[in-house]
Amino acid sequence: MFLTGTGAACFARAQYIMIKPDGVQRGLVGSIIGRFEQRGYQLKGLKLFQASEELLRQHYKDLTEKKFFPSLLEYMLSGPVCCMVWEGTNAVKVGRQMLGATNPQESNPGTIRGDFALDFPGGLRVVRGGFVGYFRGYLPRRARTSPGLPRREVRWE
Ligand code: UDP
Ligand code: MG
Repeated sequence: MFLTGTGAACFARAQYIMIKPDGVQRGLVGSIIGRFEQRGYQLKGLKLFQASEELLRQHYKDLTEKKFFPSLLEYMLSGPVCCMVWEGTNAVKVGRQMLGATNPQESNPGTIRGDFALDFPGGLRVVRGGFVGYFRGYLPRRARTSPGLPRREVRWE
């Protein structure tokens, strides 16, 4: 599910995108996939996955000290996420633009968060409340700076 380590590093032109539990529950998977296809990106991996606490702690390891981390963890455990790898020109940068700002209230209209989200999943109300941001783009830095890395198959954990 979550791309880690060498698996991710093989995709310099690829971006890992995750539709978080509320996006799956609200039936937004199709619309979101459609946006990336429309833009010209190619779907290289897709999986519906229930994350474990251990994996989430690893995935969000840079955020574990944040105040909102416990509620983010609770929220992320509340249902399956949809994991995707999108490949194409400048996928990391453009993918990020398509998602919009991390804070959905600062996301421009026309971005995914700007069109579908209003609040953080970090707020305790969110698990029950609805509108949240659902994405986390992730690729290790060395993948972004090493476009010559050989491509291998996507390895989902
Ligand atoms: N998050 C939150 N409150 C904040 C900042 C972040 O709940 O003040 C959550 C939000 O769900 C976000 C996730 O933590 O998607 C990961 O944060 P990151 O900075 O990696 O943002 P992203 O890559 O999702 O834009
Ligand atoms: Mg992030």
